Amino acid sequence: MFRTHTNGELRLANVGEQVTLAGWVQKTRDKGFMVWIDLRDRYGITQLIFDEDRTSKEMIESAKNLGREFVIQVKGEVIERLSKNKNIETGAIEILVKELTVLNESITPPFTIEDVTDGGDELRMKYRYLDIRRNPIKNNLIFRHKVAMEVRKYLSDKGFIEIETPVLIKSTPEGARDFVVPSRMNEGQFYALPQSPQTFKQLLMVGGMDKYFQIVKCFRDEDLRADRQPEFTQIDCEMAFVEQEDILNRFEGLTRHLLKEINGVNVAKFPRMTYDEAMKKYGNDKPDIRFGMEFSELNEVAQHKEFGVFNNAELVVGIAVPNGSTYTRKEIDKLIEWIKRPQVGASGMVYVKCNEDGTFKSSVDKFYDQEDLAKWAEITGADKGDLICILSGKSDKVRTQLSALRMEMAERLGLRNPKEFAPLWVVDFPLLEWNEETNRYHAMHHPFTSPKPEDMKLLDSNPGKVRANAYDMVLNGNEIGGGSIRIHDKETQALMFNHLGFTPEEAKEQFGFLMNAFEYGAPPHGGLAFGLDRLVAILGGQETIRDFIAFPKNNSGRDIMIDAPSKIDKTQLKELKLKLDL
Ligand code: ASP
Repeated sequence: MFRTHTNGELRLANVGEQVTLAGWVQKTRDKGFMVWIDLRDRYGITQLIFDEDRTSKEMIESAKNLGREFVIQVKGEVIERLSKNKNIETGAIEILVKELTVLNESITPPFTIEDVTDGGDELRMKYRYLDIRRNPIKNNLIFRHKVAMEVRKYLSDKGFIEIETPVLIKSTPEGARDFVVPSRMNEGQFYALPQSPQTFKQLLMVGGMDKYFQIVKCFRDEDLRADRQPEFTQIDCEMAFVEQEDILNRFEGLTRHLLKEINGVNVAKFPRMTYDEAMKKYGNDKPDIRFGMEFSELNEVAQHKEFGVFNNAELVVGIAVPNGSTYTRKEIDKLIEWIKRPQVGASGMVYVKCNEDGTFKSSVDKFYDQEDLAKWAEITGADKGDLICILSGKSDKVRTQLSALRMEMAERLGLRNPKEFAPLWVVDFPLLEWNEETNRYHAMHHPFTSPKPEDMKLLDSNPGKVRANAYDMVLNGNEIGGGSIRIHDKETQALMFNHLGFTPEEAKEQFGFLMNAFEYGAPPHGGLAFGLDRLVAILGGQETIRDFIAFPKNNSGRDIMIDAPSKIDKTQLKELKLKLDL
């Protein structure tokens, strides 16, 4: 046997046993006549002791020659430790080593393999296999596995079948750019990597599979905003013969199961909020509802005075920041600077300090008296000691800016507690979204999403007002999942493509396969997909998805460990009949 136990296994009860262990040298302590070594593997650390008196001089010499990260195998006896280490599970025992074999040497690692390391991000990514030896990353990968197992367990118990769908497919327009793969056997033609298995899971419903899921890699060639990956993992799901309600209940069940099994947290029924309400109250379609600071619209009370900025604004909207009145002038100026940064883009901010003595001090005292300000405080729900922050301008922009401010203030006030979980459903998304660049409507979710039947009549007259049977699951201010009830008849699908600006020929060329399938008895169906990377990070109480991915890419989409993407050689290009024009 290569090893009789792992390094996390031995306890006082094993004292007296002869064991064989293997692992990496974490640390050596040399006392001259005695040497201690921490031996590490995935399961933990076991202390080895080399003792001149109880073993031999040669043994101790070879122990002294071991370097960090050497891989060794030892045979010896489990003995009780004199000074016990309560911080590790094997801390009551140590191994009196009688035989030592060096299995492999190691050069000095470029950063320390410790929980808190001296390695920067780039270095850790370049040597990711060493980074994975560290507890924080190792534990995250184990955590991810647990989440994935619970997902599989829950869905399988509920009758879902995990089915793989192809990776080399045809381009599907889901809003992002496709990664493409040239086909050698079909000159001049390209596969696309799936942005999601959307059309395939719908075809599985036409195929009668009824309940499908897949933990699946998806690919989107987007400019990488912070903490996005060009390849990411979805828990992709679809069900036939369902209404929106069935889907919301089932996947609320899944999320509740995960929160209970993984985090030991019981959550009540998820609140539901329409998209319009989310935008009005939080300026955000993925509101973080762990804290208040809801938006209050002030047009009625703030306009029609002498203050032109408010009078000319489409929307005047504010939030009451708890205990914010202690902000000094300087701190408020800094805050105003912060919201004026191009990332937020506000043109300014009006503030009202709600003093402890019941008076108000605002940046617009010239235009508003105490009575006016008291009304604002009443509407925004501001208490004594709070700070009312007010933005004004074009509705959509102002809401987005105030949402950024709300999140920032929550962060500063420590209201975004990662141990608290506040899930909700956002429902009734608009079907279409106007795109300024292309000057036409795009599908807000994707082109296969069903409009609400009662809104169909608006499709021609007021397309922007048509609501979809589409929903997102939001957790702590993150969209962790989203989906829709699908169109399942050819006519509606054709109508939809038409509204999205496809000619009938283009629709046929790109989606003929789906439209054909709909002619053979497609059942009503719908589904959703969760972003597994993000879900795992949130359940794990962390922000960065990268730390939960074994081999992530950097912000330029590169894997700096294997150095990809990279050039391919001339023969490969020739075989593919590709010429570069750089
Ligand atoms: N395919 C969709 C997405 O990736 C999810 C869904 O509609 O089921 O967002």
